[in-house]
Amino acid sequence: MITLTIDGRQVEVAPGTTILEAARDQLGIEIPHYCYHRDIGIDGNCRICLVEVNGNSAKLAISCKQPCGDKMDVQTASPAVVAARKGVMEFLLINHPLDCTICDQAGECPLQEYSYEYGSGDSRFVERKRNKPKHVEFSDKVMFDGERCILCTRCTRFFETVRECRPIGVENMGGKSTITLGPNGPIADPYQMNIVDICPVGALTSRDFRFKQRVWFMDFADTVCAGCARGCNITAGAYQGKLLRFVPRRNPEVNKSWMCDDGRLSYKDHNLGDARLRGAKIAGEPASIDDALAKLAELVGDGQGVAVLASTKDTCEELLALKTWAASAGVTTLWHGAATWSGDDFLRCEDATPNTAGAKALGYEPVPAQAPALRGLVVAGDVDVPPALLAGLDFLVLQRATETELSAGAVVLLPGRTPLEKKGTWVNVDGLAQDVRPAVEPGPGVPEDWTLWRDLLGESWPSVKSLTLRVRAELGGADGRLVASES
Ligand code: SF4
Ligand code: SF4
Repeated sequence: MITLTIDGRQVEVAPGTTILEAARDQLGIEIPHYCYHRDIGIDGNCRICLVEVNGNSAKLAISCKQPCGDKMDVQTASPAVVAARKGVMEFLLINHPLDCTICDQAGECPLQEYSYEYGSGDSRFVERKRNKPKHVEFSDKVMFDGERCILCTRCTRFFETVRECRPIGVENMGGKSTITLGPNGPIADPYQMNIVDICPVGALTSRDFRFKQRVWFMDFADTVCAGCARGCNITAGAYQGKLLRFVPRRNPEVNKSWMCDDGRLSYKDHNLGDARLRGAKIAGEPASIDDALAKLAELVGDGQGVAVLASTKDTCEELLALKTWAASAGVTTLWHGAATWSGDDFLRCEDATPNTAGAKALGYEPVPAQAPALRGLVVAGDVDVPPALLAGLDFLVLQRATETELSAGAVVLLPGRTPLEKKGTWVNVDGLAQDVRPAVEPGPGVPEDWTLWRDLLGESWPSVKSLTLRVRAELGGADGRLVASES
């Protein structure tokens, strides 16, 4: 191990640890940086991460690249460092347009933040700023503004190191340098929108999100993408109860700093608008939820010939409550649904639902190819019902967020929440149990799904937390590890 001092505090690090990493991970000191990104690597071009090593104020070191040395004495905020950072900020801002008021990055822009924290507050530049390409359509998803770009090359290095392709690159030299599309035209990579997140300025913006809302007016929730079994950690952003965007949230065990574009844009599927089912229905007529539950219990009777088909978008807590009620009602057939799309060798899984592993761990099985004849079927959550299950049914119960073409044939219809309105646990493709938190509230007439099964049981569980404790205990044997994700 190497022992060194950073800002007067002694730390021990493994050989090869950089000064920037040691300061961040051991002491919580965030040294400013633009070109360095922990999931892309080191480039050393922006020069804002300068620190003073062993009192050498004449030759500052870039902390993103400089490995820690034994007995090193590092100063991250000495007068020489402060002056150098001011100089770097002044250079970076020389050609940067003063258009923060109309820039989508405003409010979450490291250039703004560092300018405020480390800049000099004014500029000695009196010449005319350079004009560079603006409103460049890099694709149908990403827009580029050359004048805002500080040439950190995070975007080009993302494609080179993470996606192993080169749809964009740096063109020209010196002050004329700019990021440009390659000869193959618009970016086609299905993970391309990650460059919008890692661009430290407003040079790359999402064509889907741009000009939709100022981020300081939005509400954010840390949760998990429901798009597939990977369970990428995300931050969901909403304005006045309507989801406006998903961005990846770093979790080194799951998705690092990335997510796929389809998952990112899937927020739209969760804005139900007028399609939302509120309250319950019995035989197509509005009914109270209590009456609908009583009717459900009457239909199920002793449970003989009745099966439950549950969505693998349901949380483990919902599945556990449903299973507990089913057992008490004599229903022994518990199936889970399935949905697939095209997977890939990066993040996307073929299983297009987030909790198949959780459903299996709780005892739900896939619908068999030769399903037995049923008297009744209780469908919980957003799931495609195989037509063979519907043949000869005496009754069908549907519980879900929207009505479908099957609704007309359902004796009982119960409301449900979307994955972005749920609180609980999903288990991803690698057996990792992850916290799911609500990003929006559904409004009246849509209780939490698990409360329906609790009320049928006549239990008094006060909150979903009591179920979560039981879920975690049950999942312990199914590699139900819980890994906290980083903000
Ligand atoms: S577009 Fe953004 S990420 Fe790419 S080089 Fe310019 S500032 Fe860096
Ligand atoms: S890979 Fe799956 S979980 Fe990750 S963002 Fe895409 S759809 Fe969502």
